Amino acid sequence: MDQLPAAALLQPALLSVIVPAYNEHEVLPEFHRRLAAVLAPLPLRSEIIYVNDGSTDNTLDVIRELRANWPDVTVVDLSRNFGKEAAMTAGFDLARGDAVVVIDADLQDPPELIPAMVEKWQAGFDMVYAQRTVRDGESRIKKSTSYLFYRLIQRVSRVRIPKDTGDYRLLSRRAVTALNSLREQHRFMKGLFAFIGFPQTAIPYRRDPRFAGETKFNYWKLWNFAIEGFTSFTIAPLKVATYTGIFTSLVAFLYGMYVVYKTLVHGESVAGYPSLMVVMSFLGGAQLAFIGILGEYIGRMFNETKRRPLYFLNAYEPSDSTAPAAMA
Ligand code: UDP
Ligand code: MG
Repeated sequence: MDQLPAAALLQPALLSVIVPAYNEHEVLPEFHRRLAAVLAPLPLRSEIIYVNDGSTDNTLDVIRELRANWPDVTVVDLSRNFGKEAAMTAGFDLARGDAVVVIDADLQDPPELIPAMVEKWQAGFDMVYAQRTVRDGESRIKKSTSYLFYRLIQRVSRVRIPKDTGDYRLLSRRAVTALNSLREQHRFMKGLFAFIGFPQTAIPYRRDPRFAGETKFNYWKLWNFAIEGFTSFTIAPLKVATYTGIFTSLVAFLYGMYVVYKTLVHGESVAGYPSLMVVMSFLGGAQLAFIGILGEYIGRMFNETKRRPLYFLNAYEPSDSTAPAAMA
């Protein structure tokens, strides 16, 4: 023990950076250049975990090439495309850092924020998230729908999901441990990040347009993402079903009384076909809608009960940068 130089015992903290990548071969070299430039001056050791999420282009080759030149690079290759949430989860499971950053590969999350995040972490925060102030290159519809989504979910769920945040953030080791203990299939990450709690703080920034390549998220995906957010974090829609049901039955009951009264006083008539159609189709529609909501929750229960792993690894090539710590 006493022959070891003091420096070996007092290793600087390790920072892991997780980068989920799906068909990002165009951006990765430039991304890596910028990220490496940011990490180099930090007084920390670092590992960069590229998670190839079943890309159909040569993203994996690009990552392997980066690893050949940078010993800090870890290569994780999933067995197929599992989606960004699972890719991030794989990264969190394999990250060995005292602090862990998740960042998009497309340079929409500027790596230059990392030093500020590290500073906040060293000041004692367990989660430091990047918060968008301006969003360049995103349509007005996307901005206003996302605004609505945050307002709504804030109102109906008990966890506080900060608005205008993506997944780009830094987590302390204990926050990562907490996050890793949540193994649900439907991974609404913003909700999970909020759920674990701990001291959190924001760093405001401008979100840039994509550097190259195409976004993998279209409106259908965003819509499903919103459903995920609601059904994973609140049962408020079920309550809406209950109350709407009670309300419509009440109205139907009053209307029924009125019909009975009308028949008794004015006699029977064949008229009433339009009102009948209106009531029937309204009730039919309401029933189908709420059966659908029930279905969303039951489907989620079905998926959770299978307890399937969240991803499978095809390859895992850890960085050299963490090897000395492992040997010590
Ligand atoms: N991504 C992934 N798996 C997927 C889709 C996306 O790992 O199935 C990664 C992608 O490579 C990028 C990040 O997730 O690093 C964000 O994707 P994108 O830029 O397409 O989303 P947007 O910024 O438009 O929300
Ligand atoms: Mg993007």
